[in-house]
Amino acid sequence: MNLYPMIPFEQAHATILAYAWPLPPVPVSIYDALGLVLAEEVRADAPIPPFPASAMDGYAVRAADGDALRRVVAAQWAGPAIEVTVGPGQATTITTGAPLPAGADAVIKVEDTAERDGVMTPRKAPRPGNHVRPVGEDVAAGEVVLAAGAVLGPAEIGVLAAIGRDRVLAHPRPRVAVLSTGDELVDAGEPCIPGQIRDSNRPALMAAAQQAGAHVLSLGIAGDDDEALAACVARGLSQADVLITSGGVSMGERDLSRVVIEGHAQVHFGQVAQKPGRPFVFATVQRPDGRAQLVFGLPGFPAASLVTFENHVRPALRALAGHTRLFRPPVRARLAHALDCTGQRVEFMRARIEHAHPERGDGDWWAEVTGRQTSGRVLSLVGANAFLQLEPGTSHYEPGDEVTAIRIDQPEE
Ligand code: AMP
Ligand code: MG
Repeated sequence: MNLYPMIPFEQAHATILAYAWPLPPVPVSIYDALGLVLAEEVRADAPIPPFPASAMDGYAVRAADGDALRRVVAAQWAGPAIEVTVGPGQATTITTGAPLPAGADAVIKVEDTAERDGVMTPRKAPRPGNHVRPVGEDVAAGEVVLAAGAVLGPAEIGVLAAIGRDRVLAHPRPRVAVLSTGDELVDAGEPCIPGQIRDSNRPALMAAAQQAGAHVLSLGIAGDDDEALAACVARGLSQADVLITSGGVSMGERDLSRVVIEGHAQVHFGQVAQKPGRPFVFATVQRPDGRAQLVFGLPGFPAASLVTFENHVRPALRALAGHTRLFRPPVRARLAHALDCTGQRVEFMRARIEHAHPERGDGDWWAEVTGRQTSGRVLSLVGANAFLQLEPGTSHYEPGDEVTAIRIDQPEE
């Protein structure tokens, strides 16, 4: 029996997040850092560009020489600086990104010149600094280029490389172990005999955890038997920061996941007032350093397990990874059709929201649920870009009524 009291959705959220502390920072190669959260303030120790650099292909000259002819005395390519000083009436050829030779203070672009027999004729007189990128134009020495907490995307990684940092301190990806439970389950690649079904939760939850930025480990399928379950749970806890199981947390006699989790961890709740996802266990294992490993016993029904992952597990994985933006953006949307729900527990209906209703063409968000919303129908999530969050108290909606839609295809804010 599941004797845990049913707690409100918000309380479940808050309970989980109270245990989801950012993982201790580790040194990470910039080549492995995409999506990670930076755990240090990064300053440039040298300016960029580090030397006056040509912004054009052309000639390095002294502006004071005006539009007079110049004798071309050397070639300065992008690369090591040559040892030459441009004297009065002299020039060097120069390419984009090459260091400006000593003596020169401007670049005349090649389109504005003609060269014959080693003598360059400018079409017009340059001004000092023309087409020269001064030292520190992009980044000053000592400038803070990234703050702690920055999310490392392509631009941030580019900045790190530009200032010569190939390793930084970042919060690591949480390691997440995923276990499916049930005597009826077989792997997707295996044939089924009557009574068996394919294990869809494990691949779906592994993908969801990976999408949330986790490093994922499969624990396979455990049958409904104490010992097999206990062995898998112990393995998960020895290898991961987070253990996710699905199935076996409801009221049945063979719903043993909860019982096994109770044997390994401290259970904080076992039922949440939401639909889908009422049977849902959250537990923690206290580590010597004060941190907790998180254990999520998700419901077995495939849509329910993915909805509770999105609701509760994903924000926790992001918190472990050091993110401070944990929640998907909500919008107000109008229903394109009538809708009935329980009105008892907060209900999350999978929906497609579009900015303009095909028939009305106005600027509101319009929502249409993705067919039948049963807990088992994982197809209800296919093509969904929002969860309609229907609060208790209302059990019927008319077309055009406004509801809250959580945009599950948008980054957290
Ligand atoms: P349970 O909570 O274990 O009774 O499971 C509830 C329902 O979800 C049952 O119909 C199970 O067959 C189904 N189910 C449990 N685990 C999975 C899974 N990994 N993949 C697909 N369906 C599952
Ligand atoms: Mg089961």
